[in-house]
Amino acid sequence: MSTSLPDPIHLGYRAWRVRYDDGCTDEEYGETVANKGLILLQRGQDGPAEVDTVRHECLHAMMHNTGNVLKHKDEEQVVTLLAHGLVELIQRNPHLLRWIESRLKEDTE
Ligand SMILES: [Zn+2]
Repeated sequence: MSTSLPDPIHLGYRAWRVRYDDGCTDEEYGETVANKGLILLQRGQDGPAEVDTVRHECLHAMMHNTGNVLKHKDEEQVVTLLAHGLVELIQRNPHLLRWIESRLKEDTE
């Protein structure tokens, strides 16, 4: 199944554009280019891997938006831990996502 990318993603002060990029290496499933507001994804990832990569890159974008002070290696560990944890949280608890969506609608109604 093929679906379109979640483009753009609104985080912080800007809309981040989400694109496939053939320049990503095998070890690099995605990349966040903060000064251009880009989230780049390696083609060919299956659904769960692509979701994890998008979350991972969104976390990098969040860290950029909040003036990250971590060293690159530390940021990678924090982002990877949170991305995997968020995937598991939502996969194993779909009712939680529905609850969050319904509660957040109260803010726009
Ligand atoms: Zn990373």
